[in-house]
Amino acid sequence: MALPEIKRVLLKLSGEVLMGEQEYGIDPAYVARLAEEVKAAQETGLQVCLVIGGGNIFRGVAGAARGLDRTTGDYMGMLATVMNALAMQDALEQQGVPTRVQSAIPMSSVCEPYIRRRAERHLEKGRIVIFAAGTGNPFFTTDTGAALRAAEMNCDALLKGTSVDGVYDSDPKYNPDATRFDTISYDQVLSANLKVMDATAVALCRENDIPIVVFSIREKGNVATVLSGKGTQTIVQK
Ligand code: UDP
Repeated sequence: MALPEIKRVLLKLSGEVLMGEQEYGIDPAYVARLAEEVKAAQETGLQVCLVIGGGNIFRGVAGAARGLDRTTGDYMGMLATVMNALAMQDALEQQGVPTRVQSAIPMSSVCEPYIRRRAERHLEKGRIVIFAAGTGNPFFTTDTGAALRAAEMNCDALLKGTSVDGVYDSDPKYNPDATRFDTISYDQVLSANLKVMDATAVALCRENDIPIVVFSIREKGNVATVLSGKGTQTIVQK
């Protein structure tokens, strides 16, 4: 199974990839490297939407485990994604790529609010749009925010950049015999509870027929390689 023709993608990066070798927060040198990847993908002629998580700074579930109100923690997590979006915007613009950040939680002196039609216009003008603050609702994740924006923006694929090169039948970090799937169906992912994206995000992609491409963001040039149909990845589709 190959990918359909791709003109517009949504790239989802977890907050952790912004840490580089650090244990927490943002490593600007690493963000600059990621921005190069995103720039290279755009230079192939694609329209690029970005969603970045917040796990390198704060996760609501982790806060709740230590006694913080879950909803408050989730709002803090969403604010963390805005910080990451601004860091990525800065890195992209330092490389000459025009960008706009749109937040699901309006904060007008920091960035634009999320307005779909406006985002469309930015993409048409060659800007990268970074969607921040996830869905704007607690009890969701940025994976679900990414699936939602991919559906709203009519993206041809959702690219999930991770630290592994695809979806495995067991965790390759612990099982040397783990096997990678080249392709797998949404239903298989959901029924086997494979750790691709959370179930809400996978279900949303299934409903809207958006292929999910899971690949390693740690390899240089991989976004463009994966999109050209080469490289190593797992495609989740019907
Ligand atoms: N979050 C939320 N609603 C959303 C998206 C995110 O409440 O729509 C909060 C939630 O607390 C989450 C945190 O923001 O843990 C950071 O997002 P996520 O865990 O998805 O980041 P990632 O794992 O991709 O770095």
